[in-house]
Amino acid sequence: MSRTSRRKVVRYQPYPEQSQTPAHHGEIRDESNIQCYPVFDNNPTPQGDAEERKLTEVEEREIQYNSFHEKYNQLMFNIDLDGNGLDGKPPIVPRCSQQLTNDSYEQLLEICFANQSGDEDRWRAVFHKYKTKIYDVIKNYHAKMLTNAEGEEVARLYFGNRIAVPQRDVFAVIRDCHVSRSRHTKQNATSAMVRKMYCNITQKMVNTFIQMCPTCIRRPPVIKPLKGAASPIMSAAFRNRFQVDLIDMQDQATEDIRGVLCNFIVVLKDHFTRLSYCEPIPRKQPIFVAEVLCRIFGLIGAPKLLHSDNGNEFTSQELIEAVKDLDKDILSVFGRPRKPNDQGSVEIRNKMVKSVLSDVQDEQRRKGKTTNWTTLMGHLMGCLNSHELRGANDTSAYETVFGVPYHENLLCHIDEMRRCTTLEQRVRINPDPRFEASLREEFYIDGDDPVVNVDTGIDDALMQDFPADVEDGDEDKQDEEQLRLATRRPARGRG
Ligand SMILES: [Zn+2]
Repeated sequence: MSRTSRRKVVRYQPYPEQSQTPAHHGEIRDESNIQCYPVFDNNPTPQGDAEERKLTEVEEREIQYNSFHEKYNQLMFNIDLDGNGLDGKPPIVPRCSQQLTNDSYEQLLEICFANQSGDEDRWRAVFHKYKTKIYDVIKNYHAKMLTNAEGEEVARLYFGNRIAVPQRDVFAVIRDCHVSRSRHTKQNATSAMVRKMYCNITQKMVNTFIQMCPTCIRRPPVIKPLKGAASPIMSAAFRNRFQVDLIDMQDQATEDIRGVLCNFIVVLKDHFTRLSYCEPIPRKQPIFVAEVLCRIFGLIGAPKLLHSDNGNEFTSQELIEAVKDLDKDILSVFGRPRKPNDQGSVEIRNKMVKSVLSDVQDEQRRKGKTTNWTTLMGHLMGCLNSHELRGANDTSAYETVFGVPYHENLLCHIDEMRRCTTLEQRVRINPDPRFEASLREEFYIDGDDPVVNVDTGIDDALMQDFPADVEDGDEDKQDEEQLRLATRRPARGRG
C-alpha cells in the first residue's frame, strides 16, 4: 500500500535533470534530501521508444556520470577529470597516504621501469634524480606494460598483487566495483571488493562515493533494522538444510520472456553457506516450486532437510511430495515448519533480494533498458552469492561452496577487461601464463584452422612479431619463442 501511495506523489526523474538540483549531490548524505523513491515500472518501455533512446544511450550515460565524476573529484582530491589541480591549486594529498597524483604516478612508473629494464645508464639517471625515495619505491612497487583491447599500450603500477591507481582513476574504479559487481550493496561489501583488487583506495573514498551515488541516494531510508534470528538454526555443512521461501511480487506482476505472467520469486537458501538461488514462478502452487527445486538440485545436489513455511497454500510435506513425484531419487525430507524465531535470517536475505532488485531496476531504467524483474535473476544471484564483508575470514557463499572466487583476480581495470572480445585481447591486458599455455595449444588444430574466431586486424599485427616458421633444429630459439607472449603461432608437433 505504501508503495502505491508513493507512486502517486513522486515520479521517477531521470538522472540528468536531477543533477541540476544541488540538493541531491550534497557532500554528506542528509536524510531530508531524499525526495525520490524508485517507482517500479510495471509496463516495460515500448519497442519504438526503446530504439529511440538507444541512439543516445552513450551520450546519456556520459552526461550522467560526468557531473557526478566532476563533483567527486573536486570534493575528494580537488582535481579535474584528467587529474590536474583545480583553480591553480595542487591536488589534495593527505600525509601518510598512498594517494598518487598524476606527477607522482608518472615518477613511480619511471623508477619501476628503469629498475626492471636492466639498463645501467637509465637506472643511474633515475637514481640521481629521485635519490631520497627510490628504495621505498623499488621495495614495494613494480610496473607492467599491457596492451588494451584497442591495441594501445598502458602502463600499470602494482603494489604486491594489487593495482595502484592514480587519483584520476579512483572514481572509475569504485564505480565499476560498486555498480556492476556489488550492485549498490552497502559500503562494507563495496569496500571489500575494491580492496581485493586495488591497494590505495581507502574506506573514506568508498563511503563518499556511496553517499553521492545517484541510485543509493534514492533508496528509501531503512526505518527499523531487523534483529537476527533469536535462536539461529544450526548447520554443520553445505546441503544439510535448505530453506525455500517465496517473495510476493504481485504488485509488479510481469510477463517473463516466454510470455508467462510471474507473480512470485522462489528463493532457495543454504543455511551453512548462504548460497542462494532465485527464480520467478507464476503461481503459489507446490508443483511450480517443486519444478524449480528439481532443476537446481540437479546442479548443486539435494539437501538432507528442506524447510519451508507452512503457508496457507501448501505445506512442506506437500512440497516434498511434489518434488519426489518429479524425481524419486531426491531423498530430502521436510523439516519442521519455520518458527517465528527462525524468521530473522530468512527475512534478512529476502530484504536484500528486494533491495538489490530495485537497485538493478533503477540502474537499468537509467540506461533506457527494460526493467522487467523476471530477466534480472542472474544479476541478483551474482550479487547475493559474491557478497562478502570486510572481516578477516569472510568469504562469499560461492567461494565457500565451489572453492574459487566468484570474480577472477584481474591485473587490469574491470572496464578494460569488459572491452575485450577475443582471447588474444584478454591475454594481452591480463597476462596469465597458465591460461596462455593452454590457449597456445588450443588455438590451432591442424596448423591453419583457428578454433577461436579471432579479430583479423590484431592477428596480423601479432604475426609480424613472431616468425611464421621456426627451424626444427633450433631448439633454444623455439623455447625462447614459447616463453614470449605468443598467443598465436602454428602448433608444433601436434598430431
Ligand atoms: Zn550506489
